[in-house]
Amino acid sequence: MSSTIDDRFTAAHAGSAALHEEAVTRLPSGVTHDTRYFQPFPIYVERAAGARKWDVDGNEIVDFVMGHGALLFGHAHPLLVKAVQPLLEHGTHYGASHRLEIAWARAVQALIPSAEKVRFTSSGTEATMLAVRLARAATGRSRLLELRNHFHGWNDSVMTGARNSAGYVSSAGLPAAMTEAVTVVDQHDTKSIAAELESESYAAAICEPGGYSWGTCPLATSVLELLRDRTAATGALLIFDEVVTGFRASPGGVQSLVGVRPDLTALAKVLAGGMPGGAVAGRADLLDQMAFPSPGAGTPNGDRSPDGARDRVAHPGTFNANPLSAAAGIAALTEVRTGEPIRIANERSRRLCAGFNRAIREREVPGAAYGEASMVHVLLGQHVPPPTDGFTWSWGDAGPQSLVPETPDAVRWPFRRSLLNHGVDLMGGMGALVSCVHSEADIDEAIEAFQAALSDLRREDLL
Ligand code: PLP
Repeated sequence: MSSTIDDRFTAAHAGSAALHEEAVTRLPSGVTHDTRYFQPFPIYVERAAGARKWDVDGNEIVDFVMGHGALLFGHAHPLLVKAVQPLLEHGTHYGASHRLEIAWARAVQALIPSAEKVRFTSSGTEATMLAVRLARAATGRSRLLELRNHFHGWNDSVMTGARNSAGYVSSAGLPAAMTEAVTVVDQHDTKSIAAELESESYAAAICEPGGYSWGTCPLATSVLELLRDRTAATGALLIFDEVVTGFRASPGGVQSLVGVRPDLTALAKVLAGGMPGGAVAGRADLLDQMAFPSPGAGTPNGDRSPDGARDRVAHPGTFNANPLSAAAGIAALTEVRTGEPIRIANERSRRLCAGFNRAIREREVPGAAYGEASMVHVLLGQHVPPPTDGFTWSWGDAGPQSLVPETPDAVRWPFRRSLLNHGVDLMGGMGALVSCVHSEADIDEAIEAFQAALSDLRREDLL
């Protein structure tokens, strides 16, 4: 075949190119989420079912983006469709309390060990924002300790430490007061973590407990233990952001796996079974900062805490605990509790990872695939040791601390274009979020596409 990766991409996606032409005139860069930005244009998807999606040009794609990790059950799983569909005829928003929000909280509490109480939000970003607010209110302190590159959504409180390839300032437009209230420490720098937490100025430390970017750089349990120990010693709180890992790393998230109990946990994605939704779960005394005074308590206004001593933590939100999200969430979490969906997704992930590493080895390209549970990461264009047991990659394996496990853009873009040419879509960074409906055949097809894409890049001297 003499045509290039880019020629084939353009030829196979004429419909997407045409849509993108209008999109750029109406939407910044033509997209609606930073991760959906794609060069030279993104594909436009028309429908999806199970492990697959179809674009407007009729291309069939094995999907590993899986709703940015929300779809542990794949696309349009009958169980979730059945839970949501009948509700559409009963109204999509009651502007009132409803039974399902109680059952949804119960389902969360059955899985997350630290969830003494739960408050629903509309997204993961809102969940981390609320968790930080609760911590600041409870401690009367404003400082936040973040680990470098850990992503907690896009609210002002947490963006200082988030990843950005141009440096460590993650977004323009953050108020100085917000960035100045945050100290960012490398996740492996235990000395600095311990030293920072000597200070009694911290409201909380927040982290992705699986390591930054859903485990792209895994985090040792000892760091979580250190964070737990040091925050408790100085009156700071510990917030785990389990937006990705909750109900995926294990039914009870990373905290269940490693036995470290945070004060507050941010949840989203799998929580809402493919519908929009998030939650903060955690210590009852912290969540109850949102409680209103009991009737007859004699406090002068509803903005006071139950004991009337201080302001309560305010938390409105039009779509909090939306009934459709609650219904899908209950169905998803009930199934997660059996352990089966996670077991299957994990098994498929190991198969995918092994296949990717086989291809990398056979074609003698620099890189490795590694993962945790049903999250697989691909690192190309850098010399790294393969994961010790064929799957798990620890920082010790990664070599010098200067290594940032990131595929260079000069490799990542053509590789993702080539993979799409061969019918596979990976997450931006690059990685795969695997569902329990990816069959062995889907995985094997993806491995073949991966092999073909590596060969394509080799042929064009890109790898
Ligand atoms: N925290 C983590 C670890 C995430 O990966 C994300 C989103 O990908 C968020 C928070 C933000 O969640 P949302 O996109 O629902 O606002």
